[in-house]
Order: sequence, then structure tokens, then C-alpha cells
Amino acid sequence: MTQVLVLNASYEPLNVTSVRRAHVLVFKGKAEVLEELDQPLHSASDTYPWPHVIRLVHYVRVPRAVQRKISRRALFARDGWRCVYCGTASGRLTLDHVVPRSRGGDSVWENVVTSCAPCNHRKGDRLLEETSMTLRTPPRPPTPVLFIRLAADHVPDTWRQYLPGLDPAAAAA
Ligand SMILES: [Zn+2]
Repeated sequence: MTQVLVLNASYEPLNVTSVRRAHVLVFKGKAEVLEELDQPLHSASDTYPWPHVIRLVHYVRVPRAVQRKISRRALFARDGWRCVYCGTASGRLTLDHVVPRSRGGDSVWENVVTSCAPCNHRKGDRLLEETSMTLRTPPRPPTPVLFIRLAADHVPDTWRQYLPGLDPAAAAA
């Protein structure tokens, strides 16, 4: 248990941090402990609650304009480790631009999807409307919860009530 879930003042999940950093935030009065572990945290002279979930005292504005960097791992996790075109979860997964870069498509979350290699090859440099292929789900920027899931070694049960939309199906892998 060396990771701590950090919530905004609004209870929106923000990120995952170390116990040490979380303790410093609490010690400085910048965060409160919402969930703690049974065992206390010992310093040379004192004991403190061992933070497990903390909440910032002051609301931190999260700039939505700043895009989270696209990684294959985050993309595949967003799409549940399945091809968005045919739904297969087996075989090699690839990153596909819905509007191909050669046709002016950008590398943004709204234009990249998880595709199995055969679907990616089949689609090639065509637009969707030039094929008979369809998207099972429209691509969107991933939620903060997804990045927390990826940053966490595992998601403890005590975190779950603070992580709305945590998809157990997509958590595998
Ligand atoms: Zn496919």
C-alpha cells in the first residue's frame, strides 16, 4: 500500500501519488485524509494516519485544454483492449487514425482508436464513409479515472467509491 488516491476539493479524482507526498500535503494542511489504513505512519518522533485517499482542501483547476499525451496503453485501455471496428480482443492491437493523417486527420483522442491489425489494414488510407466499417463507440478523451487506473499498481476496494465509471471489464490487462 504505497499509493494514495488524490481527489480534488470537489471529490473529482485527480491522480495517484506516493504516501510520502500525500503525507506532506496533509501535514501542511493542503489536504485532508478521507481514508486511512489501519496501521499508523511512524516518523522519528510521531505517528500519523497512513493516508490511503486524500482530498485537497482548495479546488485545483484542471485545464481541459491540456491534452493528456496519447499512449498506446492508455488508448487500448480506453477502448477496453478491443478493436473498435470488429470488437475482437485477440490478435495484435494497433493505433488507427479514424480520419487518416494523409487525409488531414489529427493525432488527438477524438481521432485515434484501437484497431486490430487486419481492420487497420482493411481500412487503409480511407475515410470511414468510404468503407463499410463502423465505430462501435465514438472516440473521446479518456476520463481521469482511466489514468488513475493506469497509474495505480492495482485499484484497492476502498478507492472504488471515489472512482465513478471505473469499468471492471476494461480493467483486465
Ligand atoms: Zn478489427
